[in-house]
Amino acid sequence: MEDKNPSGDSITFLGTAGARFTVIKQFLASGGLWLNLSGTEILLDPGPGCIVQSTKRKLAADKLSAIILSHRHLDHSADINIMTEAMTQGGLKKHGRLFAPADALDTEPVIFSYLRNCLEGVEILEEGKSYSIGDASFTTPIRHIHPVETYGMLFKTGGHTFSYIADSLYFDGLCHSYGSELLIMNVVFLEPGRPVDHLSVPDAKNIIMELKPKVAILNHFGMTMWKAKPWEIAQKLSQETGIRVIAARDGLKFDLSQLENTRD
Ligand SMILES: [Zn+2]
Repeated sequence: MEDKNPSGDSITFLGTAGARFTVIKQFLASGGLWLNLSGTEILLDPGPGCIVQSTKRKLAADKLSAIILSHRHLDHSADINIMTEAMTQGGLKKHGRLFAPADALDTEPVIFSYLRNCLEGVEILEEGKSYSIGDASFTTPIRHIHPVETYGMLFKTGGHTFSYIADSLYFDGLCHSYGSELLIMNVVFLEPGRPVDHLSVPDAKNIIMELKPKVAILNHFGMTMWKAKPWEIAQKLSQETGIRVIAARDGLKFDLSQLENTRD
């Protein structure tokens, strides 16, 4: 997985835990995703332990250009303050931008005001909008069904496209927005019908068959998924869909150059 990567585009999984119990117990880490897109580094959803997971992998927060939050839930935002402090060199250097839905910043902000002042900018994520960070750009195509305001993202870099379907209940129209070479999905539940708005394995299968990415990566596992061994679920989904499906693991670094070796 850690081959030479001429474009330098990579995604490092700083955790694969999803929702409450795998996070509370830290059965799995929960630090979010670290993107390196042709040298532009972006942190996505810095959950609890992001500072630990990133520093132990020698990922330098002061190199980050931006932090993006899909939504305000704790398993996605708990380390936003410490990571902002790290991105801004202890708050001494005005640097980097934060992208988040309005309800993460309004009445009960996830970020302390003294750290917000250290940022070069704060941008509000809204349905159907596009944003750019360095040479990378992303859109937030559709508001998800989740208890707080939540968006997934479709990223474009010089050489690749990939999408991140953050927490959501499955609904018609969810997948139309996320066609790309690489699909990363937060699949919390093994079975549908749970009381919390999340994707389950049958939803993931439908989305993969609809979008037909080159590669799909399952992430953000709740207890039912973890007990069912995500790598075995991924293998089964690969057989059923004909698409390469991978279960993320803590510390996985996925080089986007792998997409070039995968047939359409
Ligand atoms: Zn959530």
